[in-house]
Order: sequence, then C-alpha cells, then structure tokens
Amino acid sequence: MSPAAPGAATLPAPGWSPDSWRRLPARQLPDFEDAAHLSRVEARLRGYPPLVFAGEARALQAELAAVAEGRAFLLQGGDCAESFAEFHPDTIRDSLRVLLQMAVVLIFGAGTSVVKVGRLAGQFAKPRSSPVERQGEVELPSYRGDIVNALDFTLAARRPDPERQLQAYAQAAATLNLVRAFTEGGYAALSRVHDWYLGFVGETPQARLYQDAAARISEALGFMAACGVSGDSTPAVARTRVYTSHEALLLGFEEAMTRVDSTSGAWYNTAGHLVWVGDRTRDPAEAHVEYLRGIANPLGLKAGPSLDPDGFVRLCDALDPRREPGRLTVITRFGQDGVARHLPPLLRAARREGRRLVWACDPMHGNTVTSDSGLKTRRFERILGEVEGFFAAHAAEGTHPGGLHVEMTGQDVTECTGGSGDASDAGLPARYRTHCDPRLNAAQSLELAFLLADRLRR
Ligand code: PEP
Ligand code: MN
Repeated sequence: MSPAAPGAATLPAPGWSPDSWRRLPARQLPDFEDAAHLSRVEARLRGYPPLVFAGEARALQAELAAVAEGRAFLLQGGDCAESFAEFHPDTIRDSLRVLLQMAVVLIFGAGTSVVKVGRLAGQFAKPRSSPVERQGEVELPSYRGDIVNALDFTLAARRPDPERQLQAYAQAAATLNLVRAFTEGGYAALSRVHDWYLGFVGETPQARLYQDAAARISEALGFMAACGVSGDSTPAVARTRVYTSHEALLLGFEEAMTRVDSTSGAWYNTAGHLVWVGDRTRDPAEAHVEYLRGIANPLGLKAGPSLDPDGFVRLCDALDPRREPGRLTVITRFGQDGVARHLPPLLRAARREGRRLVWACDPMHGNTVTSDSGLKTRRFERILGEVEGFFAAHAAEGTHPGGLHVEMTGQDVTECTGGSGDASDAGLPARYRTHCDPRLNAAQSLELAFLLADRLRR
C-alpha cells in the first residue's frame, strides 16, 4: 500500500469503537469499588469540552512526518507524573521555559528544527511494576497517579476514587490554557530568549553557553529588524507551538475524551495531541493497543528490552496499518547497557518492512536505580550513555536519530544524580519532589541539550 498523506483522515478501523477495548483483557487498570460512581463520572466527562482539536493533532502529525524524513528533531519532555500538589502556574511556566531553552539550544547549536511536545496537561496515570507496595509490615495498593488515587501511604488515600478524574480534567484544561497563553501570547517569541533563563541555574558552564547563544540570537534578530524584517511580526519567530502528550493508560477516561472530528469523520483523543502506549501495556491482543489503533492522533509506542522484532512488526501493523508518515513514534528505552543489543534489530525490522517511523530515545526508564537512601534515582552519565548508544546505533544503520523523550522539570529538584553540578546520592532527599520517577532538573536538562546539539552537529 502506498503511504497516505500526512494527517490524512483515518477511517474508523474495522471492528473498532471507542469502547471496543472493553471486550479485551486489560493490564494496569485500577479496581474501582463503585462501578455506578465510575459510570457517572465517565458520563460527565463525555459532556466536557475537548482539550485539544483534531486539526492540531493533524498539524503535529505533519511536523512528525518531517522528523520521520530526517528533517527535524522531536523534543518531548515533562513530568513523569503530573500531580495535584505541584499544580502551580510557576511550575508550568518553568517547565515550559526549560523546554523552550532546550529547543533553542538544539535549533541554534545543531541547526535543526525542533518539534516540541510536553508530557503535560494530562500526564496523570501511572503503570506500576507491582499492584501493591510494602512499607515494613504494611502492604497497601500501589499509587497509580493522581487521576486514580493519592500518594499518602494510607488505605484511604490508596483507594481509587473516580472523582479524581474530574480534577485531572480541570487541571489539564487550566495547564493547557496557560501553555497556549505563553506560546501564542508573546512569551515564547525568540526576542524573549533571555527571559527564559532561570536564575537558579547559576554560574554553570551551560548557563554561560546559553546566555552566549541568547546574545547571538538577539543580535541576529536586531540585524533582521534593521533590514526591515521585524521578528515580532514573523509568526515562526514570534510564536511557537508546544503540543501535549500523555500515556493513554486509564482507558475509561481516554474513551470519554474520544470524539468524532466533524471535518474528517475520524475519531480523536481530545485529551492530548499525542498519546502513547506504555511498555507494560503494549500487547497487541489487549485493551490498550485496541483503543489506540482506532484513534487518528499521532501515537507513541514505548519499546523496552522485552520487545522482539516480530512483536514490534505486529505492533506497527496494528497501530499504523496505513503507513502514514508521522503517525507512529517509537520511543526506545533499553538502558545504557541494553541499547546496543536491542535497538539495531528493531531498526533493521523497520527497514525490511519499509517503514518510515520517528525514533525517539527515552534514556530515563532503562536507567532507574535505587539509591542507598532508598530513593529511586538515575545517574546523568548513564542517561548520556544511552543517548550516545542511540546515536551510534542509528549511525550504523543509516537511520535518523529523530528525538529525545525525557522526564524533566523546571524546578531545582534533586532527583537525578551527576551532571556538571555533580548532584550526589547523599543530596537526593533535599528536594526530592517527584510523585513517581526521578526527573532531570533545569540545569541537567540544559546540559543534556548542549551535549545533544553537539552530537547532532557531528
Ligand atoms: C513513563 O514514561 O513514565 C513510563 C512508565 O514509561 P515506560 O512505559 O517506558 O516504562
Ligand atoms: Mn516515568
């Protein structure tokens, strides 16, 4: 079959409906005690306005098609889990600033255009490696993200509560509203490149490099203005687009937010521009893949060490049967020690099948360890090691290392160790705030962007 045009309308997939996933086995879904309560909440959500629009999801797919063709780079980042407790305009602004800074470093340093996607405005539900969590003699159900239950280690907090879905919807709506204001209202204009600088990053080498780059960008904009081309009236310079994404895990919520697009007649998930299936729920015979195959949004597929080439090909056939450029982003997360072994077979399988995919590196999830203090952490050097292995595998296979997927925040947290600030294991408890996995802080994120720009230039 010849590839469809980017963003072409997808007809409803055979046998698919927004609730067809309910007929299949599903992993990682909470046990809600009160089914009637859950149904009432889902009915309310079905009446709520969409958070994103089909046309925006199509625009993202067109941008991702450019990544698949090797003409752009995908930068996807944000919290592992958004939380009700950390919800604050400053937190959103700071995450956005770091994402914009990283993008500028890549655009300026590597001369590539950057597709910006946040893990935000809906990234609430978490898969867990165990359904229960033990502290001493006490065993409780695991925390599954603020959209399901609460983090406190009490039975009451851990009971899944459907009402939380309404709060997650409200927080996602407010977050997206702020993101839209920042990105379209002038704050993300390149002329404000200096304003995105975060003071607490301090006198690190990366902070100096960033200010250097910002000064040269300002100079270039000044030159353009002197030539009569005003940056602030040039859309590509005055505005930017930041798309939203989350793991489509809590399927009842996702189904309630799935709507028909009046323009194309296709079904879209209207809770995020891109949604992905996690490494633990990507069985093609099960509910999560069933749900995803029928929506027309661009999709992500998390690929960990247990995914073999045959399973991978089956997933590509299920999730991207029409071979639409930009439809499928494969987010690989093998760990520093696994990337050289696991990535090349998938790249070759894709080539044999004639598939053009977006390949993004998630250097976080295969590199998680428990520190001496008992906190989950990731060492910056191992994160870099996986990125390096990702680039090496793509160079050897002649494919495009298309993107980076990171858990990061604009806050000055102490969750990952290493980096030029040399964050230590002993320092982790000082500002360890994540509800789930450890994130890069602003300084570490910026440092990673510079190293990436360097790597992309080679
Ligand atoms: C995540 O992205 O937070 C996550 C759980 O990833 P994975 O499905 O790759 O383990
Ligand atoms: Mn995570």
